[in-house]
Amino acid sequence: AHKGQLSADETQAIIDMDRDHHLHPYQIFDVFPEEGALPIAKGVGSFIWDTEGNKYLDAVGGLWCNNIGLGRDEMADVIAEQVRELSYASPFVDMTNVPAAKLAKKLADLAPGHLNHVFFTCGGSTAVDSAYRTVQMYNNCRGKKDKKHFISRKDAYHGTTYAAMSLGGKAGDHPDFFDFKSDDIHHLSSPNYYRYGKGLSEQEFADKLVAEFEAKVEELGGADKVAAFIAEPIMGAGGVVLPPANYLKRIWEICKANDILYISDEVVTGFGRLGQWFASESVFGIVPDIITCAKGLSSGYLPIGAMIFSDAIFEGISQADQGYYYAHGYTYSGHPVSCAAALKNIEILENEKILEHVRDVGPYFMEQLNTLRDLDMVGDVRGSHLMVCVELVKNKETKENFPEELDIGKQVSNEADAMGLIVRPIVNLNVMSPPLVLTKEEADFIVSTLRKAIIDAGEKMKEQGHW
Ligand code: PLP
Repeated sequence: AHKGQLSADETQAIIDMDRDHHLHPYQIFDVFPEEGALPIAKGVGSFIWDTEGNKYLDAVGGLWCNNIGLGRDEMADVIAEQVRELSYASPFVDMTNVPAAKLAKKLADLAPGHLNHVFFTCGGSTAVDSAYRTVQMYNNCRGKKDKKHFISRKDAYHGTTYAAMSLGGKAGDHPDFFDFKSDDIHHLSSPNYYRYGKGLSEQEFADKLVAEFEAKVEELGGADKVAAFIAEPIMGAGGVVLPPANYLKRIWEICKANDILYISDEVVTGFGRLGQWFASESVFGIVPDIITCAKGLSSGYLPIGAMIFSDAIFEGISQADQGYYYAHGYTYSGHPVSCAAALKNIEILENEKILEHVRDVGPYFMEQLNTLRDLDMVGDVRGSHLMVCVELVKNKETKENFPEELDIGKQVSNEADAMGLIVRPIVNLNVMSPPLVLTKEEADFIVSTLRKAIIDAGEKMKEQGHW
């Protein structure tokens, strides 16, 4: 039993008040009244417990954010100390605080070469929004007022503020009951080779994507009209899409040669998920102009994100003699408690050699997950280190999907839940981003449980005549 454990009646009361008053991100209005949400009351390391005491291995790591593991005493102590010392100070204009200054320096040290400037945000969406606005400011300040178009990709996910969601390209995130900014934001093809590379070698697929980028720049009126390209190194919510070899690097080279800024959205890939502090340069050979990050920056202990940007952008926007000022900022930019938590989180990642651990356990996890390919329903297993997904198909040869309304990913995750494993369903996918402290035994548990869950969901599909 844990301290937060409740009886069945008390649990039901929580579910009821939540359903009646709490609008959740991405709430699905038709099923929610019936199902409600599972109340979670405790977390330690890679495990969570619901209010009734059922234990789960959380292979989603919260929401790609639990990097160092849940419930660590050192984090609790640092957060409590910082609250006692200074729980808030305004970051605006003429004040700072000790953790914010130290964290900015630390991020500048960890980020690639010329990325030496940090703007703190409340999370990933606000980091992307800040990048969007800062790029506009940069071009306005240097007299390039027509250089305004942003190029993104279908299946991208960059958050849910207005600009961030408009930059995102997942079909399901652009329903017609929401509005989006579209005058200056354009989406190229998704780089998903499994889905869209039919009849092409990986190299030919990359060639096609690069040519599409070049054609889009031309179509928009040339590089003088294009402000930036934005991309996640590996698409996360769009289905753990690994870019075909060298495609991102080739686009970066075109950007560099044509004064188009490259924004690398490392909200998921930053802080160790791929065994590196940042994936852009270490994994993909790209030195972007801006890196956006959040999630693993504090391992989800407190909300914080950051936009880390280049010397050139800073010089462009900060010309004092022109009277420029940065008319952008949040009450919680550089929040002392969030920054203290992020500093401690980074110290833990360093001291416990967690990135090295990811480079060991990550390939092992991938290798084990790949054994699921023998199942009839598993069309693809893909990812890198601790950012992975399994794609479920009705027909392995044709890659035909189950009808979307069957929500096959959810069927599998329901089976897994019942066996104590949380995996994230996204339509026909099960996505996983376990805590970076995952052990090989825990990796084995994930793979064997997921195998059973896929088999059981498949049996049910057959019984119901869907397969
Ligand atoms: N960018 C990427 C790549 C993400 O995966 C996410 C969240 O999943 C975001 C931005 C948005 O971050 P947040 O939810 O912290 O606003």
